Amino acid sequence: MLREIIDKYYLEREKHKEQQRFYVTDAGKCGRAVFFKFKNAPRKEMEAHILRLFDHGDQIHQLIMKPLLSMREIHVVASEVNIPPQELISGRSDAIVSDGRDLYVLDIKSMNSMIFDKLCEPKEENVDQLQLYLHYFKVPKGILLYVNKNTLALKEFTVERDEGRALYLINSLEEIKKRIDSSTIPSRLGDYPGNWQCRYCQFRTICGKSGEGEKSWEGFLREQGGGLV
Ligand code: SF4
Repeated sequence: MLREIIDKYYLEREKHKEQQRFYVTDAGKCGRAVFFKFKNAPRKEMEAHILRLFDHGDQIHQLIMKPLLSMREIHVVASEVNIPPQELISGRSDAIVSDGRDLYVLDIKSMNSMIFDKLCEPKEENVDQLQLYLHYFKVPKGILLYVNKNTLALKEFTVERDEGRALYLINSLEEIKKRIDSSTIPSRLGDYPGNWQCRYCQFRTICGKSGEGEKSWEGFLREQGGGLV
């Protein structure tokens, strides 16, 4: 009984709202998957236990922030900082911290032991997100702090601001926005279906049906005659 009630809580909370702006987490992602998300296309729903894991990740962030907020060696300038309002992207970094000399944007990521143990360098998609924070906050350095959910071990990587990468990511999002506004499904990833994003993609079914190249969204809906899933 309780399991069903708890599952229902998470599944109802996950109901998809119409997305108006990009999230920082969309940076560097497959443009077609982001397009489908904006169009609220049918997707493989996440299971309740995965949603609980995300929630658990939020608790871990709080656990990590507690010592940072109380130690003298580091000053938390601000926590949960929204990027300045603009048309394209919304997002919130975990914190901006100072060691007395430099400012750093802090982004905390939690993961299971299997992924954590293999991590020798920061994940590319995490660096991309951090680059957008560094760009919008105009801060020269950031820290990616990885937490092992199973053991609570930590790994830390300092990342320098790379303005070229940030501008490339913003430009890519602007290109996806043009496709969304003109209702044109972007092309698949070049290495579909072998790309890691395809393996975890919630839109694999609809992506498989809609062919390889760019295509009109409305035309595709007509072809499917309303039977999208
Ligand atoms: S299956 Fe791959 S190419 Fe298709 S939308 Fe998903 S990530 Fe993109």
